[in-house]
Amino acid sequence: MTNLKLKRYVTAEKARNHPSLSVVYICPECNISRYLQHISRPSGKVKCTKCNKIYVKP
Ligand SMILES: [Zn+2]
Repeated sequence: MTNLKLKRYVTAEKARNHPSLSVVYICPECNISRYLQHISRPSGKVKCTKCNKIYVKP
């Protein structure tokens, strides 16, 4: 599965616990963050509703 992209200056550790996905991650396909949504919180899977692909947190 593909990893989400981290925003500049954000570490993977910091991003994992951040309450708001769009603040720390970017969709690697669309290069924007506003369509990212959690689909299952414990596993850390995230869906981009624009490209309809599933990503995982790095
Ligand atoms: Zn996307």
